Amino acid sequence: MVKIAAQQRSVPQKLHLPVDSLAGVGPRVAAQLVRLSIESIGDLLWHLPLRYENRGQIVPLGYHLIGQSVLIHVTIAEAKSLMRGKARQVAQGYDDAASITLWQFGRFGPTLQTGQSYLLFGEVREGASGLEMAQPELIQSAQLEAIVPIYPSTEGLSQSKLRTLVGQALRVALHDLDECLPAPIRQRFGWPTMLAALQRIHAPVLADGVPTRDEPAFARMIGEELLAHLLALRLKRHEQSRDHAPRLSAPGRLYQELLAQLHFLPTKAQTRVLDEIRADMAQGSPMLRLVQGDVGSGKTLVAAGAALTAIEQGYQVALMAPTALLAEQHQRNFSQWFSPLGIDVQLLSGQQSASERRASLAALAEARSLMVIGTHALFQERVAFDQLGLVIVDEQHRFGVHQRLALSDKGTHPDRAGHRPHQLVMTATPIPRTLAMSAYADLDVSIIDELPPGRTPITTALVRSDRRDQLIERISTVCAEGRQAYWVCPLVEDSERIEAQAAESTAELLREQLPHLTVGLVHGRMSAAEKNTQMARFKSHEVDLLVATTVIEVGVDVPNASLMIIENADRMGLAQLHQLRGRVGRGRTDSYCVLLFDEPISDKARARLSLMRETQDGFRLAEADLAQRGPGEILGTRQTGLAKLRVADLVRDADLLDTARQLADELIAAQSPDIKPLIQRWVGAAHQYGQV
Ligand code: ADP
Ligand code: MG
Repeated sequence: MVKIAAQQRSVPQKLHLPVDSLAGVGPRVAAQLVRLSIESIGDLLWHLPLRYENRGQIVPLGYHLIGQSVLIHVTIAEAKSLMRGKARQVAQGYDDAASITLWQFGRFGPTLQTGQSYLLFGEVREGASGLEMAQPELIQSAQLEAIVPIYPSTEGLSQSKLRTLVGQALRVALHDLDECLPAPIRQRFGWPTMLAALQRIHAPVLADGVPTRDEPAFARMIGEELLAHLLALRLKRHEQSRDHAPRLSAPGRLYQELLAQLHFLPTKAQTRVLDEIRADMAQGSPMLRLVQGDVGSGKTLVAAGAALTAIEQGYQVALMAPTALLAEQHQRNFSQWFSPLGIDVQLLSGQQSASERRASLAALAEARSLMVIGTHALFQERVAFDQLGLVIVDEQHRFGVHQRLALSDKGTHPDRAGHRPHQLVMTATPIPRTLAMSAYADLDVSIIDELPPGRTPITTALVRSDRRDQLIERISTVCAEGRQAYWVCPLVEDSERIEAQAAESTAELLREQLPHLTVGLVHGRMSAAEKNTQMARFKSHEVDLLVATTVIEVGVDVPNASLMIIENADRMGLAQLHQLRGRVGRGRTDSYCVLLFDEPISDKARARLSLMRETQDGFRLAEADLAQRGPGEILGTRQTGLAKLRVADLVRDADLLDTARQLADELIAAQSPDIKPLIQRWVGAAHQYGQV
């Protein structure tokens, strides 16, 4: 159990003041700063330079400078004013090493005179007749600024303005900045104080050279941010484990009854993971466990086993799915499994009629119903549970940390303060180790690392989209053999309407080309009832070919489908393609996945698609996605906990994550008084991880 020592600290006041309390910040500049997420004076400190310009060192001209911004000292051999065209002046300058053409455009910049020498700063490029510099900045030797940080900025906000403001913030920091890491820790890692790190990063001196990302000043800052986030998550975890949860240690009679009806045995991995879950649920504190299992690994059975453990002792279970389609599929599966055991399974979705919904709500509130499955509708205020013992969240990556916590709060009854349900979170998205440690630092993890027997590998092919004709034949053959196929239409970012239209016209076209087949259609603009009908028809094999948008990405289970065609695969992330591909290969026949792409295709995109062909290992694909597209792609944009990182980058700074983890353990074990200020600085006082 963690307690934060209530040690009195000097509260840094000024850094928390709004940025417009600085000289030179009016409403216009303040609005520009907001666009950079800078609202307080302190925020300026964490706005790190993108790069630096070394204006302190004159460099001799040479071709190795091409592409660099440098300070040169040149004498003008010839200067010409140009009256026409865009250039105002062109001059030829030289130093001891080489010569360079200098262009001036527009009204601004120095007028260079023949025979005079100048200190000029700018980017050296290669032009038609050798070295060139456009729009050089004239530097007075008296105002040599040495190393100049260049910040990410926004329209209308100049670099010099930003530099001045950061400079003012640094002066405030001189008096007001808390040092949150004790000296022994800093010494161990060779880290400077935060103030020294900030000075090095924002106001480097020439003698120390241009700062680089891998030096201690950056390590200190990035490490501290990661540490603060880990601490926040850990504390939330501790907070929750202080709460009470029902001890659920049923013998498992219902689960045995369920297994007796199935035509298969659970895999070793399913059994092991269910045992881990059971052990958690038998404790008096709330379980918080993440189950990772690749597509088709059989997470639903594990969820059912967990649910039956709670139900056997008279507690209610809520299962939350990311889409209405998936919620209804779960409801059908669970009903099929549970009704022989005499257990009623309710559905709660936004698309139910008012009276259906009222009936479901009443059944839950009175605990007549022990199992409920739903979508976001489960979060709604009016959903009350009588005896919620377990919350299961399927396909966690579609939800944020906060939503998950909101549902768990449902179990906290006013007359049972400090009680919460157990939580089981399931995801098919393999989460790379680095992310699992940070995004899910508040969860224990179980992995279903085995697929049910008898699965055949999926052959993946890359096909240019103008070879569609071949595909039509392929579909024909597959369906003639009694199998079924999916055709997935392109993802249209932010427009369900366009996406649906594309799917409709594709279905239309395929119906013409494959008149002997029944072509179904499912997209996000359909009502849940329509979607259901379509899915049911596909499942019962009334439909041979299902044209779909990416709504079928998660969870849909039709083992007879053995061919999947994905249009515009080059635009999708690997994790998403892997999910889609997981819809086939669920039966005993050979399965195929065809990834369609348009020429021209970038080398990077081609390499990504080739990786899909090479491997079916979800972890490998997720690592590749993480490296190429960043954590948002894997965890979904809703993982706000991560999106708020200011200076750290989970991919680039993975090595510091280990250090941060070690430090988090130490600080928590020591009940360090630094924990609170660290969290406050980086995660914010109003953060949602918990009431730390
Ligand atoms: P996912 O982990 O992707 O959610 P599902 O739970 O939907 O996977 O399971 C995929 C399919 O495998 C389902 O048809 C399910 O009934 C079946 N299945 C689950 N466990 C086993 C098992 N141990 N042996 C054989 N089939 C299984
Ligand atoms: Mg599933």
